[in-house]
This record gives sequence, structure tokens and C-alpha cells, in this order.
Amino acid sequence: MNGEERIASLFSRIVGDWRVQVNFPLANLTTFRIGGPAAYVVTPSHIDELKEIMAVCREYDLKSLVLGKGSNILASDEGFQGVIIRLDSDFRKVRFQDLIVEAECGVTLSALAKMLAEKGLGGLEFASGIPGTLGGAVYMNAGAYGGEMKDIIQEVTVVDMLGKIKHLDRSELQLGYRSSILQRKSWIVIKAILQMEKKDPALIKERMRELAEQRNAKQPVEMPSAGSVFKRPEGHYVGPMIEQAGLKGYQVGGAMVSPKHAGFIVNAGGATCQDVLQLIRVIQKKIKEQFQVELIPEIRYLTPRGLDVIR
Ligand SMILES: Cc1cc2nc3c(=O)[nH]c(=O)nc-3n(C[C@H](O)[C@H](O)[C@H](O)COP(=O)(O)OP(=O)(O)OC[C@H]3O[C@@H](n4cnc5c(N)ncnc54)[C@H](O)[C@@H]3O)c2cc1C
Repeated sequence: MNGEERIASLFSRIVGDWRVQVNFPLANLTTFRIGGPAAYVVTPSHIDELKEIMAVCREYDLKSLVLGKGSNILASDEGFQGVIIRLDSDFRKVRFQDLIVEAECGVTLSALAKMLAEKGLGGLEFASGIPGTLGGAVYMNAGAYGGEMKDIIQEVTVVDMLGKIKHLDRSELQLGYRSSILQRKSWIVIKAILQMEKKDPALIKERMRELAEQRNAKQPVEMPSAGSVFKRPEGHYVGPMIEQAGLKGYQVGGAMVSPKHAGFIVNAGGATCQDVLQLIRVIQKKIKEQFQVELIPEIRYLTPRGLDVIR
């Protein structure tokens, strides 16, 4: 048995053979459909398995990264030389108590929003079209249409790298525009407690329908992407600036500035990570020259050694 097989067999003993993949393409795990192989992909079904996986990572000095739906990830063409931990296929329980909801990190925002609508619990309508999991949304403090996760999060349960459980309240999470303390610590979100408000189910559904219509009309939801590429600089709108700079539809290899919404880069077919990075640099340079505005990427860049900033 070589080293790779030995590690894979350790993971298999924890979660079962079919929940371990070796050299698995990140393109299959990200909405951009870009990315080389991850050395290991492991899918635990409960927290004890997760802790055991983390113990193996510590013992063998393996880097690890939790993925939700991979909807905010640009993964390198060389892949990731570590362990991708997937929590989006299990970890989906949701409990309701009056206006309080306790939901596990793997539930998708759309599924959660639908459940809440049925129960007449308002507050998550803004996120019903964001194609990620609750874990990813807490990590990013995802937001849209005037709402953000910060508005409803009461408490989050995380596991730290030593396998210890921590409960973080709103202030400890340091939620800001598309940021949270989780981006600075290697903590894994297990579940969140959300505070909802009583609302007529029909009104909630109507609002969700309206927002879905707006999203479908304005965003290239039919093409692979990772959503808005850049954070919104204060006092400016990214899409219109890129459009005014003449870059709508501009292409590097298979990566294209969406003709529908210039704030998105789409994979127009066969895009590589290098294509996207090069296109990001072209956009940043042009916007700096024309508007003196620095565009900061919102998407997370996964390199073979882990998350990195796009330079
Ligand atoms: C078409 C489209 C539209 C989008 N629209 C919006 C929008 O309106 N608003 C918005 O904010 N975003 C939007 N996004 C971006 C994206 O959907 C969000 O950032 C979402 O919250 C990411 O969730 P995810 O589960 O896919 O996370 P992933 O992309 O899988 O991961 C993102 C980061 O979160 C971390 N992470 C994921 N799960 C956990 C966990 N359980 N514990 C700790 N860390 C974790 C990952 O390690 C990674 O660093 C859009 C994306 C697309 C493709």
C-alpha cells in the first residue's frame, strides 16, 4: 500500500468506502465547473466521523477544507493537495421551535427558505436564490436584496481544528460585508440558530417568487459561475463600471464577462482557472485606470496548498 492508499483506507474505515474519493476533480464540486483533482474527498455523515477525519488530518499533517455547494469557489487547475470535507449531503436536519430555527450547515438556502415559508417564518426570503449551503452562507455572511445572514443569525456551533465544539454568538462571529471570523480561523460550522419572524406564508412565497424572477432576469443563472466576482466598493456598482469600461462579453480563453451581468464571470466552455485569473486581472487594471477603484475579489481561491488571495 502506498501512502495515498493508506490514508484513503484510514478515511474509509471512518466513513465507509463509497464516501471516500481519491484524486477527484474539483470541477465536479464547484458551480464554476473549474478545478483539478482534490487528493481526497471525504463525506462524513455525523459529527463524530468529522472529528475522526480531522484527527487523521492532524496526524498526517494534511490540509483540509470544508466545501458546501462550491458556489463561491475558484479552484486551481492543479487541484488541491489535501482533504475536501463535504457536509452538504448529510448535516441537513432542521428543527423548529416557535420563531427559532436550528439548522445544520449542509442544508441549502433554497430548501431552508422553502421550509420556512411553509411554516410562516419570514426573514430568509432574500437568500432563497443563493445557490449555497447554510454553512457557506454563514462563512461568507451571504446577502442579497438588502438582507444578509447577519440579520437572522443568533448563534453558530463550530468545531475547531482540535475537534473541540464552540458556540459563537452573533458578536463573536464578527459578521461584516461578505466576511466573518470564520474566514480567519479554521473552524467548521456545524449548525446555526436563526431568529425568524412570523409572516403570512403567502406573502413569503410571493416575495421569494419576485426575487427569483429578478435574479433570473438579471443574472446568468443558466451558465456555470461563482456568482459576483468582486465585492462592491463603497459608492460604486461593479457591474455597470465593468460595462462602461467596455468589458461586457470580453473573453480570456473559456472565461467570459457575462453579457447578461458584467459583475459575473462565466465559464463559457472549457474555462481554466488561469483563464479566470487572467480575466480578473484585466478587469481590475481597466477599472483602476478608468475609475481609480480597486476591485477586491469576493470569490474564494483554492490553490493546491489551500485558500489564497487572488493577486
Ligand atoms: C449564480 C450565483 C449567484 C449567487 N448569488 C449570491 C448572492 O446573491 N449573494 C451572495 O452572498 N452570494 C451569492 N453567490 C455566492 C455563493 O452562493 C455564496 O457565497 C454562498 O454562501 C456559498 O455557499 P456554499 O455552500 O456554496 O459555499 P462554498 O462555495 O462551498 O464555500 C465558500 C467558503 O465557505 C466555506 N465553508 C462552506 N461550508 C462551510 C462550513 N460548514 N463551515 C466552515 N466553512 C464553510 C468554504 O471553506 C469556503 O471557504 C452566488 C453564486 C452563484 C453561482
